[in-house]
This record gives sequence, structure tokens and C-alpha cells, in this order.
Amino acid sequence: MEGRGATAATKSAGLNKRHGKASSNGVRAGGKEELGKWGRAWEVDWFSLMGVILLLCLAPFIVFFFIMACDQYQCSVTQPLLEVYSGKATLMSIWTRAPSFSWTSAKIYAAWVSFQVFLYVCVPDIAHKVLPGYVGGVQEGAHTPAGLINKYEINGLQSWIITHFLWFANAYYFNWFSPTIIFDNWIPLLWCTNILGYAVSTFTFVKAYLFPTNPEDCKFTGNLFYNYMMGIEFNPRIGKWFDFKLFFNGRPGIVAWTLINLSYAAKQQELYGEVTNSMVLVNLLQAIYVLDFFWNEAWYLKTIDICHDHFGWYLGWGDCVWLPFLYTLQGLYLVYHPVQLSTMHVAVVLILGLAGYYLFRAANHQKDLFRRTNGNCTIWGHDPVYVECTYSSADGKKHHSKLLISGFWGMARHLNYTGDLMGSLAYCLACGGGHLLPYFYIVYMTILLVHRCIRDEHRCHSKYGKDWTRYTAVVPYRLLPGIF
Ligand code: NDP
Repeated sequence: MEGRGATAATKSAGLNKRHGKASSNGVRAGGKEELGKWGRAWEVDWFSLMGVILLLCLAPFIVFFFIMACDQYQCSVTQPLLEVYSGKATLMSIWTRAPSFSWTSAKIYAAWVSFQVFLYVCVPDIAHKVLPGYVGGVQEGAHTPAGLINKYEINGLQSWIITHFLWFANAYYFNWFSPTIIFDNWIPLLWCTNILGYAVSTFTFVKAYLFPTNPEDCKFTGNLFYNYMMGIEFNPRIGKWFDFKLFFNGRPGIVAWTLINLSYAAKQQELYGEVTNSMVLVNLLQAIYVLDFFWNEAWYLKTIDICHDHFGWYLGWGDCVWLPFLYTLQGLYLVYHPVQLSTMHVAVVLILGLAGYYLFRAANHQKDLFRRTNGNCTIWGHDPVYVECTYSSADGKKHHSKLLISGFWGMARHLNYTGDLMGSLAYCLACGGGHLLPYFYIVYMTILLVHRCIRDEHRCHSKYGKDWTRYTAVVPYRLLPGIF
């Protein structure tokens, strides 16, 4: 692919190969230099503002709706709506039937978050010393818009392993608490996670005005709602190492993801005396995704969440509430509907899930390898082909970068998202066709990743200017080659 398409394009668009003659300073063929500007110039239009306000108002109710639908209506999403429509139930009666906040759940959640903070801050990574190929310990992030480079202690894999070791030690040996503890406190825990989600978003919002970590990386748009939702500070920290983005993105939500699924499996065992193959499939496919995330946590420092998004309600509340409750809907559904799949169905879901994972990982790996080695690598056995780019940070300094157009990155601009979507569809299909609820995830992921793709491209266009236009001319499709 890269050999043919990209070589022709190389000539027409002034692209570079590793050993080819690179342009001296990012000035393009025939071009007067035109640097992309990055990071500073956000203006909030009415459309974005309406979206922000809608999300702030609706997102907590969406989470409540799905969890309540399982708790009160056996995971039917249409029945509560029909009952409200026909007058059989009212919003108030649904609300009052939902389990309320409990001090037991508050203690569980406080212990959980404190333990994750302890593992994050107090246990330096030793996993990178004993696991070949794993990158952990102190690592550097990407350039921030102000031109800074932050350091991070990467110890997520170690935290995940310790946490899960203790979980299994408890389940099979100590019996301090039931492995169904998460499922048994699920709605009371929803209130606790909301308290933390709002507290952390509000704290970082106020902190940005009063004592920001890196003032030159703050982004004030002039609109309070937008600032609260999308964040002001880029990398809020307490002390040298407690980084809000890294902590809240990965733990407590993603470490919890696999534990939540295990708790659902334990509940199935308790209720029906067996764990169905669909539950095993969901646990397995999502565990691969979670483990991949922690194995590649250092790579994660170079993804959009860490190197482009500011930390606000979108990340703070989203990581505390949205992720643990809505990313685990399949397992929750299977507690209420213990689906036993045919061997053929299992095989199809497994193949789709693993193929999606392969595409997701391989595409991400190609970009990471290319960027890490500054193009001194091979992609599918050939020297990489790329576009040389130039951009400037807020301090006015000029930087160089490269956009890969070999391998998966020459086929479409975001095949890593496509792989993610295939995996997401596999989780949903593992639940059979009985109800709509488990399929919410693929609908949500499609909206998230298409929107993310457009948002990222908008940002890349302002960062790289006409270099980005040249890149999109060579790789015209986003997610599906030939279609979109
Ligand atoms: P990417 O890893 O695709 O990163 C996009 C950035 O990569 C761009 O902003 C640009 O950054 C750089 N880039 C774009 N094109 C190229 C190119 N051709 N060559 C080199 N660099 C390029 O996106 P994300 O960070 O959003 O996602 C990372 C992974 O995480 C994805 O696989 C995604 O599916 C997954 N994800 C999962 C989510 C979930 O909820 N499950 C949510 C979000 C992401 P630069 O400024 O450095 O040039």
C-alpha cells in the first residue's frame, strides 16, 4: 500500500521518506513558510456552547436511566419510557424506587479511591524492571501548547496487578468481602462516584483561577460553562507527581472496569449457579482492552486525552462516572439476562473482537514507533513515508513534526478508531439480540470517536496549517477506506 500510493503522492505533495532528502525547515515545495498555530485561539461558538450545556444537564441522567432500567425494568429501555408515557409510572416514582446513597457504599468507594491514590503516589514502578518490553517508571509526556514537557510516574500496570491479586486473594482465600460487593452496591456507588466526579471537576476549575500548576498552559475561553466542562488547566497537579489527568483517566475508572466485570460474573454464579459463556466472553475481551491500556500507559501520554485535552468536567466526571457505569453495561445486562451463546456465535464475536483489537493495537503501534524513532524504523518492512510539518507553540517557538502515511496510516487517517469500534461491537454482540440496552455502547463509541476524529482534525489543521491539508489530500478517508 505505502509502496505504490504513497510514492506517487510523495512526488506530488513534497513528502519525505526516511532516507530521502528532507526539507530543511518544514518549508514545503514551492512554498512560502506557513506555520500552524496551536492551542491558544479557542473561541466558543453557539453550537459548541449549546452542546456543552446539554451534556452537562443530560449526561448524569443518561447514566441513571440505564442503571435504573436494569434495576427496575430488567434492562428494558423502552418499558420505563412507555410507563411514564402511559401514566403507569412517574419520574418521581422511578426516582423514589431507586436505592439511595448509603454510608456503606461511601466507605467502600473512599477505601477504593484512597487505595488507588496510594498505589499511584507511594509505590514506585518496579514492573518495568522485571517485565521485558514493558515501559514504566518515570517517563516524559509530549510538548504542551506552552512548550513544556511534563514527567510522569508510569505505574498503572503494577497498580492493576496488585489490585487484582488482592481481589482474587480475597475471593478465594481471605473472604473479607463478597466478590459481588460492587454489583450489590451499584446504585449507591453511583451517587458516590458522582460526588467525586463533581468535586474533582469543581476543584480543578477553582484551582485554575487561584493556583494553577502551569499558568502558561491554562486556556480561558471567556465562557464559564465551556471552561468548566472542557477544562482550563492543561496538566493540573498536586505536588510534583499527582497528575489529575493520568490518575483519573486510568484509575480509579479503568482499574475498576475489570473488577466490575468480575463482580458481575460472581453475581451470575451466585444467582444461577454458573457463569455463562457470554459473560466469559465480555470479561475476556474487555480485560484484553484494559490490560493493553496499562501495558501501554507510557504510549498513552502521547494520546489526545493527555497531550491535547484540558482537564475539566468532561474528563473528571467522565472518568469517575460515565466510564465505570456505561462501559460495563454488557456485564450488568448479563446478570439480568444470562445469555448462553452457540459455539458459532462465540466464534464470530471472538474473531470480531480480536480482529478489532489487532487493528487498534497495530495502528497505534505503528504511529508510536514512527514518532518515537523519529521515522527511523520500518513499517511493513519498508522505510516509512511521511509529511514533514512545522508548527509553533504559544511561546512562539517553532517545532517540527511528521505525519505518517505508511502502513495503516496510509489507508485511512484513523484506523485505530475503526479497530476500537469493531471491538466495541463485539462486546455488544456477545449479549445476543434480546434487548437494546447493551447496544448503547457501540452507538456511544461511534458518536465519541467520529466526533473525536473531527475535533482532532480541526485541531491538527490549526496546528499544522497547509501541511495538514497536504496530508489529508494524500490520505482522504477517516475511518473506512473508500467510504468515510
Ligand atoms: P490518536 O492516537 O489517533 O492520536 C491523534 C493524534 O496523533 C493527532 O492529534 C496527531 O497529534 C497525531 N497524528 C494524527 N495523524 C498522524 C499521522 N498520520 N502520523 C503521526 N501522527 C499523527 O488518537 P487518540 O489519542 O484519540 O486515541 C488513541 C487510542 O485510544 C485510539 O485507538 C482510540 O480508539 C482510543 N480511545 C479510546 C477511547 C475509549 O473511550 N475507549 C476514548 C478515546 C480514545 P500530533 O499533534 O502529535 O501530531
